[in-house]
Amino acid sequence: MKIAVLAGGVGGAKFLRGLRHHLTTIHPDGDGGHTDEVTAIVNTGDDVWLTGLKVCPDLDSIMYSLAGANDEVRGWGRAGESERVSAELTAFGVGWPWFTLGDLDLGTHIARSHHLREGVSLTEATARIQARWPAIGVRLLPVTDADVPTFVAVEENGMQTQIHFEEWWVKHRAALTAEAFVQRGIEASGITDEARDAILSADVVLIAPSNPVVSIGTILGIPGVSDALAATEAPVVGVSPIIEGSAVRGMAAACLTAIGVGTTAEAVGLHYGSRADGGILDAWLVDKEDADAVPALHAAGIRSRAVPLWMLDDATSGVLAAVALETARDISA
Ligand code: GDP
Ligand code: CA
Repeated sequence: MKIAVLAGGVGGAKFLRGLRHHLTTIHPDGDGGHTDEVTAIVNTGDDVWLTGLKVCPDLDSIMYSLAGANDEVRGWGRAGESERVSAELTAFGVGWPWFTLGDLDLGTHIARSHHLREGVSLTEATARIQARWPAIGVRLLPVTDADVPTFVAVEENGMQTQIHFEEWWVKHRAALTAEAFVQRGIEASGITDEARDAILSADVVLIAPSNPVVSIGTILGIPGVSDALAATEAPVVGVSPIIEGSAVRGMAAACLTAIGVGTTAEAVGLHYGSRADGGILDAWLVDKEDADAVPALHAAGIRSRAVPLWMLDDATSGVLAAVALETARDISA
């Protein structure tokens, strides 16, 4: 079975770990004995060139997490990290002092920048970097090879300005009111051939419970993505990142407010819309506490089920992934 997953960083990583856990541990022979192939199509809107290096937070969150090299306690970056190089850069007055890059993490960015400077695409650079951890079991693809950095329109000291997404998210903790999100260069960008093929040839397309605005929203805004989702014969099943009116972890509510969408599983599902109606979803999983959203979603042409959505560990995320696959099978049947 070929499975394509649209994903942001941490929510995407947890879901992908659960999916891998389900496919390898619980259901190791795949459907009908065929090997399963999982491709993650990952947001690149958070990417930034910093101190001469290309940093791709969402691709790296997923890669470290799948490799078991992530810092579980902090929730981002590498385990066993030190920050000697960042301290030195701060002493030089270079980079963002509030955006600490660990020494091991910098190794990733140096390797990636090396490949990019040799002239290969971000897709190829990502393949070379993920080969460092051969057992990841998921093919990681940036959704686009173009730079599409997300900027946030805010008012700072009485002035309208745009700041990089990471500055808004990490430095300001999303506390400045976001008036809009602007992915610079997005119109001229495009989905990669690899990501398009992954969607078109998939048996199942899953939308991870990732930020609907700055992770999934950015992916959907890349020219060619919604066309591929409309054209694929695979069922498209999404998982709500919102449980009981809250973004579970993180600050997604500030992003949804900026685009005029409520912070509820129902509002996000309706915002994505039914594929039959020009949207992207065939089905949308909401948490069992959000079961009252199901009728409105059905009325909008989106199959919906209320199931436990908390991803507490690989086992619970694995059950969630299994439910998403079962929902897709029901649609195909
Ligand atoms: P980021 O790029 O690191 O911000 O990560 P993503 O965009 O992939 O996902 C972040 C979102 O994942 C958060 O805003 C939450 O809404 C969602 N999320 C995190 N943990 C869980 C969970 O256990 N269950 C569900 N359903 N969503 C979660
Ligand atoms: Ca992100």
